[in-house]
Amino acid sequence: MSTLRFHAVKESLKREPVKIEELKRRSDVFGSNVFNENAMRQYLTKDALISVLEAIEKGTKIERLVADHISTGMKEWAISKGATHYTHWFQPLTGATAEKHDAFFETIGNGLSIEKFGGNQLVQQEPDASSFPHGGIRNTFEARGYTAWDPTSPAFIYGTTLCIPTVFVAYTGEALDYKTPLLRALQAVDNAAVAVCKYFDKNVKKVNASLGWEQEYFLIDNALATSRPDIVLTGRTLLGHSPAKGQQLDDHYFGTIPNRAMAYMRDLENECMLLGIPVKTRHNEVAPNQFELAPIFEEANLAVDHNSLLMDLMHKVAERHSFKVLMHEKPFAGVNGSGKHNNWSLSTDTGINLLSPGKTPMSNLQFLTFFINTIKAVQTYEELLRAAIASASNDHRLGANEAPPAIISVFIGAQLTKVLEELETVTKGKLSPKEKTDLKLNVVGKIPEILLDNTDRNRTSPFAFTGNKFEFRAVGSTANCANPMTVLNSIMAKQLIDFKSEVDTLIDNKTMKKDDAIFNVLREYIKTSKSILFEGNGYSEEWEKEAVKRGLSNNKTTPEALKVKVSKEAIQLYKELNVMNKVEVEARYEIEMEEYILHIQIESRVIGDIARNHVVPTAVRYQNILIENVKGLKTIYGDKFKDFAKEQLMLIEKISGHIEAINTSVTKMTDARKLCNKENDIEKKAKEYCSKVKPLFADIRYHCDKLELMIDDELWPLTKYRELLFTK
Ligand code: ADP
Ligand code: MG
Repeated sequence: MSTLRFHAVKESLKREPVKIEELKRRSDVFGSNVFNENAMRQYLTKDALISVLEAIEKGTKIERLVADHISTGMKEWAISKGATHYTHWFQPLTGATAEKHDAFFETIGNGLSIEKFGGNQLVQQEPDASSFPHGGIRNTFEARGYTAWDPTSPAFIYGTTLCIPTVFVAYTGEALDYKTPLLRALQAVDNAAVAVCKYFDKNVKKVNASLGWEQEYFLIDNALATSRPDIVLTGRTLLGHSPAKGQQLDDHYFGTIPNRAMAYMRDLENECMLLGIPVKTRHNEVAPNQFELAPIFEEANLAVDHNSLLMDLMHKVAERHSFKVLMHEKPFAGVNGSGKHNNWSLSTDTGINLLSPGKTPMSNLQFLTFFINTIKAVQTYEELLRAAIASASNDHRLGANEAPPAIISVFIGAQLTKVLEELETVTKGKLSPKEKTDLKLNVVGKIPEILLDNTDRNRTSPFAFTGNKFEFRAVGSTANCANPMTVLNSIMAKQLIDFKSEVDTLIDNKTMKKDDAIFNVLREYIKTSKSILFEGNGYSEEWEKEAVKRGLSNNKTTPEALKVKVSKEAIQLYKELNVMNKVEVEARYEIEMEEYILHIQIESRVIGDIARNHVVPTAVRYQNILIENVKGLKTIYGDKFKDFAKEQLMLIEKISGHIEAINTSVTKMTDARKLCNKENDIEKKAKEYCSKVKPLFADIRYHCDKLELMIDDELWPLTKYRELLFTK
């Protein structure tokens, strides 16, 4: 065994679970490192408290003077918890979180010092941000960006630092982060949904989008993971033959959680509790060493922040347990990858989940309104939704028979399908009193009962209704949920605005009653959005063919999928809703294309390096041993040696064949990369990387993996799948 691999395996075998001290009752410590309402009541003046609460509930502005009071209270609270520094915490378009710590500590002359944190420092900061991706925005306009406090997501303490969630924008106002467009989209859907809710209940003043994510991940022993250059540099294995045993026995899903992993989870959950992340569920996933963690759902902006924070925490806590967390969508070939289901719904300030059937026929009409509008929104903007989850790493997962295909469709279950069929037949125009009663009693009125046994869940659907929410399942495990949430809430906002306008027109023009008008518009929506509804097996080939007939998009790669983001329709949509202007949309497109290119470029370099510098030399070494062996046999047996050395001779030849093939492919790949790099058009460049560079990975891998099976295990330099996946 190569020294590195040998030491890594030896290390990994020595590990014991870290002893975790259990916190007190979880509900007692929950959110104790969060500047939540509880803490604010203790540390803020009444005016300051009211001001923050109103900003959260109504989005009102916080006056400068009040901000000074808030910052003082926040500082006192933070210091009482042992904090020494503060930071504006934000989510630039790198996909990671960013922070820059400043001490509260300040000198005031004469050798004196104080702890200071004023309103200015709370509200706005200017990070040296020139090295965050900006897609040309800050080049064209100003070279500076600033972070600004988002009071709707509470400040928290991690370690000894007070972290203040902020947006990150250019001085000219363009968003440079994930949060800004998300907040705007949430505002848009709030406005549009409140307007529609008023048909049913005049008291509704606010509608919140909710998000419950489910985070999948792999836990790999740190020594083993860091012995693999591909994992270190790309987050996934670029080579590696499948182990004799994989996930085919289905013995991992929901199985007993191994002790080391359990200690990690408990430690992580304790940290989550302190930070107010309401984690609830943990279990083994399908693949060996794969797990999932899910919280109780929250308001979408907070849930997005919590997921970003959690991903950071996961890496930090893993260090204590000598684990490396692999968040990548496809760390191992032939083994299920990881996703991040986004459960989504809308709920009112009066406590109604708009995607949950109610107890009365009237509230069910409201449910149907939001339910059908969601379907219609997805039908109209399916390609945009697909684009929202596109990334180089998620390309490996979508359509690989382990996750939804790249085709977006909606699953609603047999019972609701039947309800829609019945609604489709309602009379055009005014409904007769009998028809209305029938509908209310027999169709709409029956929904809660039928939903109770709506158990046929279709795991192959990318967008499924699951009783009281939709579950967007195609989101990748590394994704920042802000991206899909911005799109989903934007298209829903747009759809609800259109719906309201159509219903109002019918009421105004034809003197139709409200209910009649709603039924009429919904009926048309059911007719026009049928193409997106699919109940069958989303992994099947027939579905691919069927989807083409239905005119649904099937954008299999990121460069193909992203294009729609800069379409006229998309730009118009975001402009109309005030979510993003053209410059912002185009900047994001450029950043994502660039990121795709860099991703493939790095992987290509790494696989080339491993193949040439690790695999080929090992193959040569082993071949030399075989040659020595054959020579020895010849010395002893003369020409008869051929009878004894058949296997060796065959191996010598085969090894040469694979070495030759590897070298040819690596050279081809390097040449292709050089050509791509000459391309200045970012769209063409991404496409070429996708069609000319990336396909060669498979060729190189094929021959390397064959060699792994032939070469003496003692010599093989790379930690094997068996070791990575089955070390507990
Ligand atoms: P699974 O999908 O794994 O079968 P569940 O259906 O119980 O599990 O719930 C999955 C996730 O859905 C949980 O994280 C939960 O918090 C979230 N969820 C439940 N209700 C809502 C809602 N109204 N809005 C958003 N997310 C929700
Ligand atoms: Mg789920």
